[in-house]
Amino acid sequence: MVGRRRLFILGSTGSIGENTLSVIRHLNDTGGASFDVVGLATGRNSARLSEQATEFGADAVAITSSSPAAALDLPTNVNRYEGAIAAESLVREHGQPGDLVVAAIVGSAGIGPVLAAIDAGCDIALANKEALVAAGTLVTARARARGVSIIPVDSEHSAIAQCLRAGNSASEVRRIVLTASGGPFRAMTAEAMEHATLEDALRHPTWSMGRKVTIDSATMMNKALEIVEAHWLFGLGADQIDAIVHPQSLVHSFVEFNDGSVMAQLSPPDMRLPIQCALTWPARAIGCSVPLDWSRLRSLDFEAVDHARFPAVQLAWRVIRDGGTAGATLNGANEAAVDAFVEGRIRFGHITRLVAEAMDALPSSAIASLADVAAADARAREFVRGQVAAQSSIVGARTSP
Ligand code: NDP
Repeated sequence: MVGRRRLFILGSTGSIGENTLSVIRHLNDTGGASFDVVGLATGRNSARLSEQATEFGADAVAITSSSPAAALDLPTNVNRYEGAIAAESLVREHGQPGDLVVAAIVGSAGIGPVLAAIDAGCDIALANKEALVAAGTLVTARARARGVSIIPVDSEHSAIAQCLRAGNSASEVRRIVLTASGGPFRAMTAEAMEHATLEDALRHPTWSMGRKVTIDSATMMNKALEIVEAHWLFGLGADQIDAIVHPQSLVHSFVEFNDGSVMAQLSPPDMRLPIQCALTWPARAIGCSVPLDWSRLRSLDFEAVDHARFPAVQLAWRVIRDGGTAGATLNGANEAAVDAFVEGRIRFGHITRLVAEAMDALPSSAIASLADVAAADARAREFVRGQVAAQSSIVGARTSP
């Protein structure tokens, strides 16, 4: 039994946020651990935020969009924050050393709140991979200086963290291999992928997730983001991190040790398990997902990443080697390109090409502060928007013949 702990969930209305609340209900009910949900933050879903805060008795809520804030249906004693830095204000004013913050806001909007939570002395259960991709150097340095832990929520990184407990030191690790489902287009030709629709891209074969990460899985940009995330979480170089396609999504990643031993972590594709692992880390509690039935398991398949069809993955090693603002450029360009695809302004095939073009056009520079990250992010978004506007030949994915 893990002791009672104060908890914040940033991005509480999303896929990770809702799964986290489901795990908390389970842990509180079964006595596996107990959490006081102190604060919840979201983008604009005031109705769901009100329900969550009422159910869990939260002291404070944050909502980024100002108009839905007026629609919050909560008792007057619940503190409210609204506007662009609402989530940051929530953790700065209510966070205390030893609290746990689940960072599950999607995209670079999550960076400021993660840094604010670290400043407040809170440990971070990190789902928001974009914070590490764009600002890993700041996030990890500040966490070290403040003495707080960053515990992975992403299933692959949770798997690596669990497997690393089999060794005694980082020097015993030869390399790590992140598994990838391959997404909905694993077996599709490059030509068909070029014209894939939004509906096709959102049809993930094994995981149920938010829209942006699902599209990232379809381009396999998600694996690129995760490789960079692994670099920052585990302090490994580009040549020590690899990826492999594993369509069943049962092996969540593995660690190869110097002596040739390989440790893998297996479980059903259910995010509640890595979320629970992060909440109770380093202890384990009885889980709430259905365990694997070994008698029904017929095969575990692995295949190399097809870099010709999924060129996004290789951008990760470039980001690690270039350092500085390269991650912020990759991430900002990807977020802008995904937005353009969702709006039907570009074809699916353009997403990764635009990101690569942004990286070619915008050389990396050193990061001294969050302003450098924000500037690189803004430049990358502006570049992509400019390319989208300029290329009148780009036909919207949903309107193309
Ligand atoms: P969703 O899109 O489902 O949810 C995003 C959450 O962030 C929502 O609560 C949303 O609020 C909130 N939000 C969006 N913009 C802002 C903002 N500007 N300020 C405050 N809150 C905001 O995303 P996921 O849960 O799928 O993913 C969240 C993060 O976790 C991503 O970084 C993703 O890569 C990562 N991740 C997700 C996995 C998954 O299984 N879903 C697996 C591993 C990692 P609202 O609902 O009001 O819009």
